[in-house]
Amino acid sequence: MQTVTRPFTDTRWFSSTRHRRPVQRGSEFEWRPYGVTHAREAGAYFTACGLSALEWRIFWLLPFHPGVDDACPECAAALSRPTIARVESDSDVTTATLGKIAEALGLTLELKGR
Ligand SMILES: [Zn+2]
Repeated sequence: MQTVTRPFTDTRWFSSTRHRRPVQRGSEFEWRPYGVTHAREAGAYFTACGLSALEWRIFWLLPFHPGVDDACPECAAALSRPTIARVESDSDVTTATLGKIAEALGLTLELKGR
């Protein structure tokens, strides 16, 4: 069986929150997430858990990390779901074809059972 999986720490997912708060850094302030932090892709109107987030803040320097306290559990679950193409080994799909599919989707091709 061949499996295509997406690494859990996917840098396409940024932190996005309904609110933000200023945090002092030396003599300056920096905006940081406030409240539940959701996962959101650049240009997406919705979070990974399906909330409409058009007016929300997106933190371009903060990739979404599912392990932190304020991380939305639904977003974490959505990202942990394997993005999978399972193909039986007697299928006509070749490894090269799977590799092209994985590359197009930004996934890592992992071969098992060969
Ligand atoms: Zn969420």
